[in-house]
Amino acid sequence: MSKNKKGKKQSKSKIKKLRTSLWKENSQCYYCKTLTILPTDFPNLLELQKKGITPDNMATVEHLYSRYEEERFKEGGQDQCVLSCYKCNQEKEREKTSLIPIEELRKRSKKK
Ligand SMILES: [Zn+2]
Repeated sequence: MSKNKKGKKQSKSKIKKLRTSLWKENSQCYYCKTLTILPTDFPNLLELQKKGITPDNMATVEHLYSRYEEERFKEGGQDQCVLSCYKCNQEKEREKTSLIPIEELRKRSKKK
């Protein structure tokens, strides 16, 4: 057993960096072409989130593979990520999860 498990903290900052670099390349949403805004550029984001609001045009990183798909965990396999607005990100997430039976989701989400 020589493999290290990736910490949550680490992967979060990785996503942040990735989001920024994707955004710098092209700040348009991959799906709907809306111009997105980085969370760090939203001056009142914390206020909004306190109210349970996340702006639709906030920049998020969308995995082309869902978090439940095996592909993502294959060794040497790269995460394929695109920049997406929050709205599309949520829609895609719903789409993907609705395709998979709930029992299967539970099983897969336990695997790390
Ligand atoms: Zn979008």
